[in-house]
Amino acid sequence: MTPSSAIYPPHAADSWRAWLDVDVAAVRRNAARLRAVAGVPLVAMVKADGYGTGMLEVVRALGTPWQELPAVDAPSTPWALGVATLQEAADLRAAGSTARVLCTTPLMASELAEAVALQVTPALHRPDDIRRWHTLGGGAWHLSIDTGMARAGARWDTVDALQDTLRTHAPEGVFTHFHSADLPNDSRETQEQRFDAALATLAAVLPADILVHSDNSAALAARGRARGHLARPGIGLYGAVVAAALGVEPVVHLRARVIDVREVRHGESVSYGATWQATGTRRIATVALGHGDGYRQAFSNRGQALLHGHPVPVVGTVSMDMTMLDVTDLQDRVAIGDVATLVGRDGAHCLSADAVAADRGLSPYELLVGLRLRVPRRTVESAATTDAGAGA
Ligand SMILES: *Cc1c(COP(=O)(O)O)cnc(C)c1O
Repeated sequence: MTPSSAIYPPHAADSWRAWLDVDVAAVRRNAARLRAVAGVPLVAMVKADGYGTGMLEVVRALGTPWQELPAVDAPSTPWALGVATLQEAADLRAAGSTARVLCTTPLMASELAEAVALQVTPALHRPDDIRRWHTLGGGAWHLSIDTGMARAGARWDTVDALQDTLRTHAPEGVFTHFHSADLPNDSRETQEQRFDAALATLAAVLPADILVHSDNSAALAARGRARGHLARPGIGLYGAVVAAALGVEPVVHLRARVIDVREVRHGESVSYGATWQATGTRRIATVALGHGDGYRQAFSNRGQALLHGHPVPVVGTVSMDMTMLDVTDLQDRVAIGDVATLVGRDGAHCLSADAVAADRGLSPYELLVGLRLRVPRRTVESAATTDAGAGA
């Protein structure tokens, strides 16, 4: 499998029109923080290009997976990296990673040979696949149990049928996934009971030292510690969703330069559909970022940006390549080349991914993952702050 195409444009950052600053020092601190909350080693979920932040940069920031595991020697070093596709695993291997790579989605039978070659730890649950995995010479694998997500794995109340297969083909781990750990209901407890029941059913055939895991970021936040031997946080590493509860910091800062400035007179409109009209004379700055870069049209007339450390409103419809800001309050201070921040921190203000998404009823997951569309990424390293927990 060949690596995915590189995302770094060749030219220098000072001529970039828009970009994503990815604070890898914050990722590292977040991983250490999640590890401390969980109390167990982590499977760091780096799927979907590290939730849009850059899988390889994140993995490098996390520590030693470029060397042989299981030396879990730094507080941020994960036990394994979590991916969703073999392409993601191939990209890690092509970059030289020898880390454990757990692929949590079901593989098709036609993918198993490739997974063996990539030394992936797959999630398996179909007896035919499990036997084939062993015939192909595959290594460690984890048994995936569906306790109510109804997406992947063996149903918790049908695992009896796996006894014969598991007796001769033992998994290294067994896991389930919560569907609503972020919601204030008792569904997580229900899923935990189903998971426990499945484990009890299989107790005689599973190895005594099997690695049990279930927790995503929201489950860690809700419980305040991990259940089982490992935890699988994703979004928490990137500083979103349950940021305040977990004490994690923002990681992503979306920047775009001002590429035009104009005066718009009373009653004149801005952008497609003329959805915004000026009241009085307004000064409008155009920034080089739009929905083609993952800055969603939902932010039309609703979003905010930070410019020279001040919040300014998005006006008119967000177009594919450009977004307009009303910078009247900044008077003459706005010039071509100035840098606006549409997500993240500028000076004392922070437009957190969570707040930005929540304001428009969007998923912060989709917001972050969508930012990998076109903008180049730059890694930055912020210094630790004493109020790291106030990241939201
Ligand atoms: C994506 C994923 C996770 C991580 O979930 P977050 O909500 O991002 O913490 C954990 N486990 C599985 C199986 C996943 O698919």
